[in-house]
Amino acid sequence: VTTTLDPVRQATLEVPRQPLRCIGTYSGVRGAVDYPIGWDDASRDTIWVETFLQHLGVSAGDFVAVVSTGHEAPWYAPVVDAVNRLRATVCPLEPARFEVGRALMFFKRFPVSVVIGLDAELGEALEASAGIATVLSRVRSVVSRPDATSLVQMLQSNKGMIAPVGPALALPCLSGSFVHFNEDEWQIDASASGLAVCAKRGRAVGARPINLPDTIRVVERRCECPYGHRSFQLVPAEKDR
Ligand SMILES: [Zn+2]
Repeated sequence: VTTTLDPVRQATLEVPRQPLRCIGTYSGVRGAVDYPIGWDDASRDTIWVETFLQHLGVSAGDFVAVVSTGHEAPWYAPVVDAVNRLRATVCPLEPARFEVGRALMFFKRFPVSVVIGLDAELGEALEASAGIATVLSRVRSVVSRPDATSLVQMLQSNKGMIAPVGPALALPCLSGSFVHFNEDEWQIDASASGLAVCAKRGRAVGARPINLPDTIRVVERRCECPYGHRSFQLVPAEKDR
């Protein structure tokens, strides 16, 4: 099948690749910190997310709604790329109230089986329209952001949480309300003195421990799900701390 993108793809192959895929920004202890992400970093992240999506049953022909915005590409571009690799279709949404119309259109017209990244703002807009349980009644799995946890609590779908933790991404455990990190890539150290994330492999960000603000609590436990041996519990910090 020839598409209008074919000449664009051909042209991109002839453009020399920059050494970095992109620059991300995470919230560090002293404010926002820019950090580099290489092509190999992004490829390995994509493969990790792909395995997760396969455990959720995503396969060719599925429709997956991904709620994210441009500057979240360090964490969400691997999600979009993984959906594409599985030959499923991405229904792109932004974490914003103004997306409610497009979201209602997607959920009405397409058999969306998985939602990833649903936030409180879009979730509340869906709740105020037809009711979030009605809108998402055919969705098998809802992987929401921490601020939308209470909104999705009553849904019949499988539920899980997605959250950036510094430069690393937390994806839901397949058993219960816990999350996993890609521990081939990241060393996660959560202790009373704070939370630190350190790249294990040759990532562009470097191998120094990254101290993160105490906006989440990470509770380690052993996990028997097929997705990893250690899982963590993310607890949003109280706002007045
Ligand atoms: Zn698990």
